[in-house]
Amino acid sequence: VASGMAASHALLAGRLSAGDHLVISDTNYVGTAELVRDSLPRWGIEVSPVDTSDPAEVAAAVRPNTRMLWIETPANPIIRLSDIAALGTLAKEAGVRDVVVDSTFATPMATRPVELGADFVVHSLTKYIGGHGDAMGGAVIGRKADLDALNLEATVHYGGVHRRLEVEGVEVRL
Ligand SMILES: *Cc1c(COP(=O)(O)O)cnc(C)c1O
Repeated sequence: VASGMAASHALLAGRLSAGDHLVISDTNYVGTAELVRDSLPRWGIEVSPVDTSDPAEVAAAVRPNTRMLWIETPANPIIRLSDIAALGTLAKEAGVRDVVVDSTFATPMATRPVELGADFVVHSLTKYIGGHGDAMGGAVIGRKADLDALNLEATVHYGGVHRRLEVEGVEVRL
C-alpha cells in the first residue's frame, strides 16, 4: 500500500467495528497513536493504551470484546521491546482474534512476528526497507484469506492505492 499509515489504517479500520475494543501499545509511531486516540473512538471503537512490555498490563486490559492486540516493538521512538510470543499466547488464550505487530523498526532481518504467533504484521516501507527516505510505502502481511478480504477496502476504498480488481472473473490492473 501507499504508506505505513495506509497499512495501519487498513487493519484498524478494516478489522474493527463499532463495539469492538482494541488493546494497543501506549508508545507508538505518532501517526498510529493519534489515529487510535482521536479517530477510533469517533467510530465507536474503544481503545486501551497499555505498556505492552509488561504482559500483566496487557492481561488486565483484555475484555470480552477485545478483538485486536496491537504491539509496536521496538516502539518508535523509545525502542521499548515487547515479548511478541508471550503476548500472542496470552491474547489467544483470552480469545482476542487479531494479534498485530508493527515491526517497522525491527525490519524482517531482526524479527519475524508471524513465526512468533502474530496474525498480521505491518511495515512502513518508508523507513529501513526503503532505506533512503525518498519513497513511501507500506505492507500488511497475513493469511491469504484475511488479506483477500481486506484488499479492496484497503486499496480502493481507503485510497491505499489501487492494486488489482477482479471484474466478473477478469483481472483488471489499475
Ligand atoms: C514511520 C512509521 C510508520 C508510518 O509509516 P509511513 O510510511 O510514514 O506512513 C508506522 N509505524 C512505524 C513504527 C513507523 O516508524
